[in-house]
Formats: sequence, structure tokens, C-alpha cells
Amino acid sequence: MVVLLAVLALLIFLIVHGMKGDSGETPGKTVTPTSAPTEGVREATATPTVAAPTATPEPSDSPTPTPEPTPYVYGLCSSVTLDQDSEPVDGDDWEIDYLMLVNWSHRLKYKGNPENLVRIDEVLTADFYTIQNPNTVNKSDLNFIIEKEEDNYGRGNRVALEHLDEMCHDYHEATSFGVKISQTGAYRNYATQDRFWQNRDKSINPPRTVPGNASEHRTGLGFDIWTLDGGGNDTTWFRENCYKYGFILRYPSDKKKITGVTYEQWHFRYVGLEAAKEIFDLGYCLEEYIAYKNGEDLASLPTY
Ligand SMILES: [Zn+2]
Repeated sequence: MVVLLAVLALLIFLIVHGMKGDSGETPGKTVTPTSAPTEGVREATATPTVAAPTATPEPSDSPTPTPEPTPYVYGLCSSVTLDQDSEPVDGDDWEIDYLMLVNWSHRLKYKGNPENLVRIDEVLTADFYTIQNPNTVNKSDLNFIIEKEEDNYGRGNRVALEHLDEMCHDYHEATSFGVKISQTGAYRNYATQDRFWQNRDKSINPPRTVPGNASEHRTGLGFDIWTLDGGGNDTTWFRENCYKYGFILRYPSDKKKITGVTYEQWHFRYVGLEAAKEIFDLGYCLEEYIAYKNGEDLASLPTY
């Protein structure tokens, strides 16, 4: 019995010992786990760190708001007012904008000379020109009021005159005719324009002249062109070609209700090359073009 028990005990010992041996590990051996699997487990099980959605951070230093620049309004500049009842005041060197409107609804604020006004005969020097300066006209015919020494000479905007000169050279080359600018066909001082208005023929409607602060002859950008073609003053060539030089026919026959001025086949206005081409292509008068550029309804334009 004792032997049997001893054998049984030995068997149990062996069984237990043998099972441990299956693990392949030496008992007592310290197992140092390699780091890689641990990390792998950590990576696999770690909850991904997701940044909690946060509101767009407010900039801590708000930039100082820049004042909005006054938007450009076509037709207006600092020397034009929409107040039709305004009385012009003294002032020289007032601003010229090639797209400024000067008409019944857009009045000039000043009586004096605009900026960039020069003598016509300083720019138009070719021998096919007839430049009629106010002081060359017989006193009995004089209708330009001479207030200052400089009023003795026909004047115009320098940039407009340079383009006018180019246009007239091409006209002369195409036709061999000359060009006349009369003593009142370019820049007019306020006193002269105002007298035209006071003495107007009231039977013509719309009138052929406008008040002293409503005429673009006061800007130096408008010119009455007389073609020396033997008497007809045919301006067909100018009407068809003026846009190439930055000019428009200012008072077309089919726009009288909008311009408030009768058809003037001789009156050309400098507006700049880009605008002149666009106006020509669109078939607008200046009032329509300005409204179009300002995004206004053309149907809302005042009519006369
Ligand atoms: Zn004119």
C-alpha cells in the first residue's frame, strides 16, 4: 500500500511536471515580453484621438476695418451736382472726368476754368485748320464774352485736343478738306454760355442751348466741328469714325428726348477710347451709357 501510494504520488508529480513542460518554458525563467507586440496591441486598441470639433476660432486681434471707398459712380465727379437748382460758385481747376455728364440733371458746381485747359492753337497746328479765336472776330460779331485775358483764345482740354488733332489729320487725309473750330465751338466761359441761354430761341424745343452750368462746352471736352467741305459742313466721316479717337456724337437725332438737346451733327464729345467704342457699338447716347454702366434701368431716365 505504501508502495502504491508512493507510485501514485510519483505519477501525479510527473503528470503535473509534464504539463508544465508542454509550455516549453523553463520553470522559473523570467519572460521579458518584447515591446513590439505590446505596442501593436496598444496601437490597435487605443482609441484614436480625434480632435473634438470646435468652432472656428475667432481671431484674437480683429483687424481694424478699412473704411469702404466711395464707389465710383459713372457720370459724376467732384465738380458735378445732381441738384438742378444749384447756383454755380466761383472756382478754378475743377475736376474733369472724361465720362462726366453735364446736362439738365447733372450741373456744374463752378463758374471758373476746369483743370487741364490749354489753347487750341497750341495743339491744332496743321495748316488745314481754321482756328477762330474770340479776339480775331469782328467786334460786332463777337458773341464770346471776354472776362479775362485768357478768354481771347479758343481753349479745350489738352487730352481731348490731342485726340481731336489725330482725328482731324485722318479726316484731312481721307477727304483733303480742312476743319474749322469757331470761337465758341470749344471751351466756353460761364458768362458766354449763360448769355446763350438767356438769349435762346424759345420756339425751338428741346432748346439748342442749355443754362450756363449745364453745358459740356464748359468742360473743354466738347467741340463743334465745321468741315471746310465747300459749305455743307457734312460731318458724316466724323460720325462714322469719331469713336476710334475717343469721341462720340453727343446729340444724335434719335435721342433728343433723352439728351434734351436737338440734333447737332457738329457737336462731338471726348469720352476716352474705350467708352467711345462701347457707346458706338451699343448705339446709346451718353445718358443711356452712363445709366447702363451704373446698372440703372434705362427706362427710368428722365425725358424732355
Ligand atoms: Zn456744341
